[in-house]
Amino acid sequence: MVSRIAVAGGGIAGLSAALLLARQGYAVDLVERDGPPPEDLAGIQEWQRPGAPQVRHPHMFLGLFRHLLCTRLPDVHADLIAHGVDEVDMTAPPGVEAPADATDLAGFGSRRATVEWVLHRAVRKQAGVRVHHGLSVREVVVDRGRVRGVRVDGAVIEADAVVDATGRRSPLVGAFTKEVEESPCGNVYHSRFYRLLDGVPKPPTFLVPVVFAGGEGFGGGLYAHDNRTFAVVFARLPEDEALGRLRETGAFEAAAKAVAQFEPWLRPGNAEAIGEVVPMAGLTNMWRELSPDAPPGYLPIGDVLCTTDPILGRGASFALAGAARLGDLMSRHGADPEAVSAGLRAYAQGEVRPWYEDGVHDDVERTRSWRATVQGRPEPPAGLPLSVLAALAGQQDQRLWELAQLRANLMAPPDSLDTSEVRERLDTVLATGWEPPVLSPGPSYTELTDALAAHSG
Ligand SMILES: Cc1cc2nc3c(=O)[nH]c(=O)nc-3n(C[C@H](O)[C@H](O)[C@H](O)COP(=O)(O)OP(=O)(O)OC[C@H]3O[C@@H](n4cnc5c(N)ncnc54)[C@H](O)[C@@H]3O)c2cc1C
Repeated sequence: MVSRIAVAGGGIAGLSAALLLARQGYAVDLVERDGPPPEDLAGIQEWQRPGAPQVRHPHMFLGLFRHLLCTRLPDVHADLIAHGVDEVDMTAPPGVEAPADATDLAGFGSRRATVEWVLHRAVRKQAGVRVHHGLSVREVVVDRGRVRGVRVDGAVIEADAVVDATGRRSPLVGAFTKEVEESPCGNVYHSRFYRLLDGVPKPPTFLVPVVFAGGEGFGGGLYAHDNRTFAVVFARLPEDEALGRLRETGAFEAAAKAVAQFEPWLRPGNAEAIGEVVPMAGLTNMWRELSPDAPPGYLPIGDVLCTTDPILGRGASFALAGAARLGDLMSRHGADPEAVSAGLRAYAQGEVRPWYEDGVHDDVERTRSWRATVQGRPEPPAGLPLSVLAALAGQQDQRLWELAQLRANLMAPPDSLDTSEVRERLDTVLATGWEPPVLSPGPSYTELTDALAAHSG
């Protein structure tokens, strides 16, 4: 019988699992190695999160994330909106009225720290959760094949089950892992946060809370976030030392200025930087398979089991989805930890694994194409992938739009567009003479490297 649960890690997966489990009546100890968030959201930019360095990079939250918040943690969703997060409605193409029966679909951009801040507020108010900040979980304590708790710095917290939500560098999972698949995402991130100054109207984004630029040899994006903040990010090949200069503040600013789509946001007098340029390297797609003899009651979720390329913006949704599935399994089989473990394994294999494979495939294709451009032998333009073509043609056909957006927002499986209905609808749109519009083109690779080279200092 499980009554006490230790949750290791207070990122998105751990915080949401703690809330969902405490709301089912479990006594929860949440252990997080970093310190607590500030009392006031105004201080969030200074919150130190060395345990989750991605907090310093932009995040978009896809439709699945927002759907799970609305259905599982509606108070958290309402509190996010109350604290300055704007949603982007994706039910119908921009400027088109959605039919009455369209699926409700929206996503949002927010500083990741703001989302955690709101989750922490809910956890603090939640009966049944004790939060331990500044403590690291060192080990899962197992006795005679059963989970007994976690060893933290200098003590044991007793528990009948342990949720491992310690992220991609989990110190716990290694003891129970059978196989690890890992491949480089093929990119390094350089990001900086800004705030629009008072009185400056918010410039438009493009469909999602993001403005994209580039795609030939590098990636660039501007992510609209909460409370008039936004972030600019460039992604480059790890070996690309010409773009490696993006780590320098002046060079980064010169590159950002070379992107016409960012200009309305970054125009002098419109915005101020609220942080330094920060890099993130070593990004990998990673899949962990647990040994069959991992003890029942050891329950890994989120990045512990699977990481995907941040460019795709999927990880936070999987972290929340893992917590939600764990909650469902505990409510159904709480007395039977083996059934819960089996359910989590089946969920990961059946619902997360196809997205992992999809992400690895995307990364291989993109890395090859970027490498060709950087090495001066750009590939001829390839046909658009079905997912992109369907989304663009969806501006002519609401049903196509809906199917493409459901997939893009992880609310339909990766192969959900591979159907005769989608192909027939695409053919019909193409037969009208419609051609896909150019997607927010950015500077070419040469223009970007020229902008960097022109910057001295
Ligand atoms: C650069 C970058 C950009 C990204 N952008 C997006 C995006 O736009 N959209 C999106 O959906 N996803 C994005 N992701 C992915 C997303 O951030 C992760 O998938 C998500 O954070 C996973 O949540 P988690 O709770 O599983 O792990 P984490 O968020 O990593 O949380 C793990 C927590 O465990 C704590 N911890 C670690 N070890 C211990 C220990 N021993 N004891 C106690 N506590 C411990 C850490 O301090 C941390 O708080 C991005 C990732 C990166 C790297």
